Amino acid sequence: MLHRVTRRTPGFHAWQDPHWLVHCHDVAAFIGEISYSELAAHPEALNQLRQDLRIDGRHDAAQLEQFLAHLGEGATAVLFRCTDCDTHLTYADAS
Ligand SMILES: [Zn+2]
Repeated sequence: MLHRVTRRTPGFHAWQDPHWLVHCHDVAAFIGEISYSELAAHPEALNQLRQDLRIDGRHDAAQLEQFLAHLGEGATAVLFRCTDCDTHLTYADAS
């Protein structure tokens, strides 16, 4: 899934990919896979990911931070940037 996304240039089919992040009513620009330290350089993306993971059921703060700290090892964070407002967006891919 992830590899298919990374090798593809944004196009019509990207709209149908649930992992292609959208911001400001438009598809965000794909930047790449990042580790926790790289993600920490984009606090707005990090906070957004924390919220998403809590919504996903990671209610234990310690476990959540543990998961985030190990991004880039098992799970990966994928970074996007909104082409309209430059906000960074991310999701975690655990596969
Ligand atoms: Zn935006």
